[in-house]
Amino acid sequence: MKRDARFTLLELVVAIGIIALLVGILVPVVGTVREKSQKTACASSIRSLSMSVQLYWNDFGTYPSGWLRQNLFGQYHDSAEGFDCPSTKKPYELFYVPRTPTGLDRVFLSCARHQLAAAGPGKGVRPAPAGEVLFNGVPVVGGATIEDGPITFEDGTTVTVNGKAFVLASFYTEIHRLYNAMRVFVDYDKVTLNATVPVGSSFEAIVPAATITASGATLQIKTDVLGASGKVNAKIKVTAGVADVTTWNGEGMSVTPASGQVTVIGPVTDAHRLPPWL
Ligand SMILES: [Zn+2]
Repeated sequence: MKRDARFTLLELVVAIGIIALLVGILVPVVGTVREKSQKTACASSIRSLSMSVQLYWNDFGTYPSGWLRQNLFGQYHDSAEGFDCPSTKKPYELFYVPRTPTGLDRVFLSCARHQLAAAGPGKGVRPAPAGEVLFNGVPVVGGATIEDGPITFEDGTTVTVNGKAFVLASFYTEIHRLYNAMRVFVDYDKVTLNATVPVGSSFEAIVPAATITASGATLQIKTDVLGASGKVNAKIKVTAGVADVTTWNGEGMSVTPASGQVTVIGPVTDAHRLPPWL
């Protein structure tokens, strides 16, 4: 008996079923392999970028402030791509602030997508689990711009924002402590941050005129751009505990309830303007 060369309906259904099964098995495997290789590429980019940051430090005795691409591309970092995570194509988040009074002058580079960070520099890349950040009770990720409302970090730090602010970071440092940071750009103009930071938690606000670091404190930070003079100011008032303030020109001071409202006035610089990708 001559076999019909055409597929029977049953054979077709079986063949399609087998193909679907294979696709179902292979697609997640391919996805996992790609994800792993991108995480490896991301770790390598962070490592190389942290070396460029170190080279900059060797020349200037300070870490670059502002955005890495502006400060490092060309002279300190050859690759134009090395500033972005290979998966998200977003720039690495740089958390550097000269913490003059505490002496904890250091830099963090991190990728929220791959939960990687380089601290130091010189301490290498390590896993940096992100902490949950809620805005009005809804989760937001590092890099979110928020307006008018309360931000709650995983360690209980709360910041009520009037105006616009940028959630810079919330991740666990090498000593398993959450590092929470927010930033206010010149372009946001008048912003008020009311922060309550529990003991054992740390919060940093990077505003155009100063960087304010607090742990176990209640404080208010007001930013303003002065019209005609073209300058920026930050008004800092601490109602409990102490805040370490590093001014735009690197001077340090401790602000306590006894200090009253402290005003820092500084120039508008590019480092405090909105970066092009925001
Ligand atoms: Zn990444």
